Amino acid sequence: MLSERANSLKPSPTLAITAKEKALMAQGLDIAGFGAGEPDFDTPQHIKQAAIDAINEGFTKYTPVAGIDPLKDAIIEKFKRDNGLTYKREEIIVSCGGKHGLYNLFQVLFQEGDEVIVPIPYWVSYPPMIELADAKPVLIETHEEEDYQVTGAMLKKYITKKTKGIVLNYPSNPVGSVFSLENLGAIGKLAVENNLYIISDEIYEKLAYDGYKHVSIASIDNAFKERTIITHGVSKTYSMTGWRIGFAAGPKEIIQAMSNIQSQSTSNPTSISQRAAIAALNGPQDFIGMMVGEFQKRRDYLVGELRSIQGVTCYNPKGTFYVFPNFNKILGKSYKGKAIASSAALTELLLEEFHTAVVPGVEFGKEGYLRLSFATSMEVIKKGIERIKKAAEALE
Ligand SMILES: *Cc1c(COP(=O)(O)O)cnc(C)c1O
Repeated sequence: MLSERANSLKPSPTLAITAKEKALMAQGLDIAGFGAGEPDFDTPQHIKQAAIDAINEGFTKYTPVAGIDPLKDAIIEKFKRDNGLTYKREEIIVSCGGKHGLYNLFQVLFQEGDEVIVPIPYWVSYPPMIELADAKPVLIETHEEEDYQVTGAMLKKYITKKTKGIVLNYPSNPVGSVFSLENLGAIGKLAVENNLYIISDEIYEKLAYDGYKHVSIASIDNAFKERTIITHGVSKTYSMTGWRIGFAAGPKEIIQAMSNIQSQSTSNPTSISQRAAIAALNGPQDFIGMMVGEFQKRRDYLVGELRSIQGVTCYNPKGTFYVFPNFNKILGKSYKGKAIASSAALTELLLEEFHTAVVPGVEFGKEGYLRLSFATSMEVIKKGIERIKKAAEALE
């Protein structure tokens, strides 16, 4: 009855786990939730006020499909200020979240017969979105011991005549890794030589630790910029996940095509949220420093605790609010006689027996790992880590 497309699609596993976590909590269970894919801070007041003003002024009608000019200008200013990149209004589109921008982008760039390279571990939505465009995701394994880098030599092995693009996400969800300048340069060069589009998802740009300074691949070389579409948004930077404002910057033909898709599907992103996003981008930026400072304290604590568990290793994230510890040495053991052989089984055990919610690594293409979000209070983190330690000790 349903289309093949609908039948082959499964819902986002991260959203599913957060929903399950919330449902159990609503039943009164004391769940330590590490599932959240959003900052646990309130949206800053001046941003809320801009939305309230927009409502009171009657700014509640359709806007231009690709976003209002003052917001495009604020985005242009952001790219200039943070990345040294110059864009024109026709090279910018505002969408209903970064995710929506990526969806539109894949729809306009890819079709049947195309291959799109995605490094593992990947954000859960890239492969399904590529498949929704009838293209094929080609997955490249990257390794914890190599800081999850993609080198030119690795990439070369996967490029075929059918390769049309590569998706880069840095700092990355779920690991918090970033690509070295040298590797970004090598990837850019191969993209130019092989006519590939670079989809550069930089949504976690500002959530960075230890003085890491984000460098966009588009800013390294003008030839890279001509092949790159940056996708970004206000969700993570300003704790605005519910407002649904994302943006993309790239060559104007591509942006125009994205706008055409948008005009036939969602039309403009919410007028009120657009006004809030202007306040976010143009207003005081001290909120970010406060939030990142809190995240850094939690990261330091959580990584230290995870590394103290016998058999567990953990990459220290350079950005985002996730850690991605490696539980491979613990898998294969048993709990009360039942073998815990996969990240999914471990996730289930943690939730059902230890009331702790995590996301299994397999959903990000990496078996044996777990993703824990530290976008939650220190209290929950402490409680949850104690439970994870108990679970690890109970496995034999
Ligand atoms: C959260 C996220 C996005 C987009 O989020 P929106 O709320 O749709 O803006 C895009 N990419 C990655 C990797 C993310 O984690």
